Amino acid sequence: MPAILPILVIALTNLVAAFLFLYGLRRMSSPVTAPSGIFVAGIGMVAAIAVSFLYGFTASAATQPYLMTNMALAVVALLLGGGAAWWSGRKVAMTDMPQMVALYNGMGGGAAGAIAAVELFGGRTTGVTEIIVTLVGALIGAISLSGSLIAWAKLQGVINKPWRIASQQILNGVVMALTIAAGAYLAVVLVTGPSPFIPTTVLIIVFFALALAFGVLMTLPIGGADMPVVISIYNAFTGLAVGLEGFVLQNPALMIAGMVVGAAGLLLTMLMAKAMNRSIANVVFTNFGDAAPTQAQGDIKGSLKPTEASDAAIFMRYASKVIIIPGYGLAVAQGQQKLFDFVKLLQANGVSVKFAIHPVAGRMPGQMDVLLAEAGVPYDMIFQLDDINEDFASTDVALVIGANDVVNPAARTDKSSPIFGMPILNADQAKQVYVVKRGTGKGYAGIVNTLFYGDNCEMVYGDAEDVLVKMIEAVRGLGKAAA
Ligand code: NDP
Repeated sequence: MPAILPILVIALTNLVAAFLFLYGLRRMSSPVTAPSGIFVAGIGMVAAIAVSFLYGFTASAATQPYLMTNMALAVVALLLGGGAAWWSGRKVAMTDMPQMVALYNGMGGGAAGAIAAVELFGGRTTGVTEIIVTLVGALIGAISLSGSLIAWAKLQGVINKPWRIASQQILNGVVMALTIAAGAYLAVVLVTGPSPFIPTTVLIIVFFALALAFGVLMTLPIGGADMPVVISIYNAFTGLAVGLEGFVLQNPALMIAGMVVGAAGLLLTMLMAKAMNRSIANVVFTNFGDAAPTQAQGDIKGSLKPTEASDAAIFMRYASKVIIIPGYGLAVAQGQQKLFDFVKLLQANGVSVKFAIHPVAGRMPGQMDVLLAEAGVPYDMIFQLDDINEDFASTDVALVIGANDVVNPAARTDKSSPIFGMPILNADQAKQVYVVKRGTGKGYAGIVNTLFYGDNCEMVYGDAEDVLVKMIEAVRGLGKAAA
């Protein structure tokens, strides 16, 4: 086959794949169209991978002898990687999703770094621009790989404590400076010829080792609690690295996919930081979530008032407006299906029910939306913070289920609180609040929640799913309309 045909097919398919990525991403912006968006982007990815085998037809005479081995290795890698991803993707619990994202993100950064390594070790990169782009991509990809793996280890509980030493920032600064210096020297060597002091291969290894070490050092001191934001930052890094390596390989699909991922990661990071009322620098350089609670228990006015699940359920059954605030604990309990069953019972009895979602409820952006979608909750019952916050004041009951920080009024009033300034859902303004949680456990920020002590608030203790089962029984026991 003449080489021009495969090149044409590759170029056209890459273009179509890039379009499918963009179109898929567009559809992912709404929960209604997101599943099809993921499917469309997936088709683009399969097409881009499949067509890359056509590069075999364009191989030079020098590389022909290795062609079959390389193709076989690529197929084995695809089967191993694809198989592992398929298996783990089906098995992963909703609450473990951030770890999985960290791992996949690390793989993306590693892939970009690996492309750069192949180019650099093979001496294929020539031209000042290509060399600089390759090195910048390698740097960012390597940082993203090692940083994401540390993020995974923290989220998975493999590393339990933030690792901090005195003068951590200075050490990080020195390692970063050394990495950039090694990269700059490598660039000079690649442009002007081998160094008399150090073999180029060793220099490349030193550069990668420093970049990987920087990713580790940068991530280790950050508290496990901030890992989702950190993963999002690394997501932006990975996208950028992939885009840069796409430029080196002159592959438009990689360039576009990388830039889209990079931009999405950056926007997500900014949105998450905004929703927590923190700057990105604050996330990376401070130890949020590890701090001791700001208020001593004695400072809190009021008391915790336990109540039975059945009493709360019957009260809601006779209310006219109920707003439900799901949080991380609902995902832990996997109580979403029972929650929707309970909601359907309330609706069957004429109660108006809405769900209020905080942008950082759970441990991952969109986690609550996905959880509710899993249970089949219609999208028109789900409201984001800005669209529902004014409704609380005219609501009979706010049911806070497995949520904590996102309804903590300290964010409005306590300047010393680590969440001060974070927009919260105004659950405290409802006439009656029920909070479902297992005990006196704190939320992610590790602070006391003043809402729980309010006169209008009662605590329903128990695992969210068990409590919901009791609530359903209680309403059914009234013997009126059933869903
Ligand atoms: P929180 O982490 O504040 O609170 C969760 C609550 O759920 C806890 O108080 C816990 O109390 C309760 N809980 C745990 N397991 C169960 C269970 N099985 N049944 C019932 N209750 C349970 O969650 P929120 O969703 O309110 O807030 C999210 C926090 O995570 C915010 O601080 C946010 O900034 C942070 N964050 C979110 C990110 C995101 O992208 N979504 C990213 C990074 C951080 P108890 O132990 O007593 O049961």
